[in-house]
Amino acid sequence: MGEGAVISFLHRILEVMLPSSCCYCHSSVGNSRIPHFCASCWSDFTLLHGPFCPTCGRPFESPETLSHSPEHSCLSCRQYPPHFDQALSIGLFEGSLREAVHQFKYRPCQSLGKPLGDWMATGINVLITIDMIMPVPLHVQRLKQRGFNQALLLAHRMSARKGIKLNIDNLARVRPTRPQVELTGEERKKNVAGAFMLRRPGEVENRHIVLVDDVFTTGATMNECAAVLKKAGASQVTALTLARAT
Ligand SMILES: [Zn+2]
Ligand SMILES: [Zn+2]
Repeated sequence: MGEGAVISFLHRILEVMLPSSCCYCHSSVGNSRIPHFCASCWSDFTLLHGPFCPTCGRPFESPETLSHSPEHSCLSCRQYPPHFDQALSIGLFEGSLREAVHQFKYRPCQSLGKPLGDWMATGINVLITIDMIMPVPLHVQRLKQRGFNQALLLAHRMSARKGIKLNIDNLARVRPTRPQVELTGEERKKNVAGAFMLRRPGEVENRHIVLVDDVFTTGATMNECAAVLKKAGASQVTALTLARAT
């Protein structure tokens, strides 16, 4: 057993023996059924309410912005229309939701996928014309490092809760990319350009696809995936994420 494995093993023993505390507020998790979170912090996620851009989901500062023209997209969407038809996020990437995403993705804590996917599924009820759900894929190298694709766990839960077909190995990341969190807006676009392909493009033709990922920041990754889907004939692409960074 290597040094890393020994430390990981001891860490797990300590977790079982010691009363665990909430990773956000550090109080006791009590009888919370959510790993590493007390019930209070878990129920305190900030939901993303309007008004926001009907295309990219960017929150508008003033509630007056949409009052005269409800279909009015933000300046960025009008100047550079994205390939997806609509981007929706359930919450804001802040506070305890931000911590939950970090625990899920970077700790990494695979067991948070189920409750986060459930939270995502209960927050969305407007998508009634979906044909299939697709997770944003990881490159095989990143998958080996993390051990799981966080977007796939969320998509799997969404699919089960909503009874919508899951299409998991069609969209593929064909070259490794740098983590988007390290990059600026322009660099993010270049980083993911040409990084995706469809193994079976015929499956998305004339279909409404929901792409699922954890966080929407500039939308560069979603946009690149949506471009590939639209090129293959998808009729509609909705980009759905747990949280929106502003
Ligand atoms: Zn807490
Ligand atoms: Zn917009």
